[in-house]
Amino acid sequence: MALIITDECINCDVCEPECPNEAIAPGDEIYEIDPSKCTECVGHYDTPQCVEVCPVDCIPKDPDHVENEEQLMEKYHKLTGK
Ligand code: SF4
Ligand code: SF4
Repeated sequence: MALIITDECINCDVCEPECPNEAIAPGDEIYEIDPSKCTECVGHYDTPQCVEVCPVDCIPKDPDHVENEEQLMEKYHKLTGK
């Protein structure tokens, strides 16, 4: 399941450089996560790094992009070529 940034985002910028997949970028109003690139950090880290650093806790799982561990690992392999 990819994660999603809610409108509680305060545009603090700290999550963007933490994402190992470069899935986070500034959107029109708040930061956004590209679901095709978010693996929930599977393959890279044990926990979602953006969630770890977000000061306002505004990055829940995206119910519109449900994926299991296996699918996330597959995405990781596609993105990294590993
Ligand atoms: Fe990037 Fe990981 Fe956050 Fe997904 S969970 S957006 S891969 S830092
Ligand atoms: Fe927004 Fe949280 Fe990212 Fe800061 S860390 S830009 S508040 S999503």
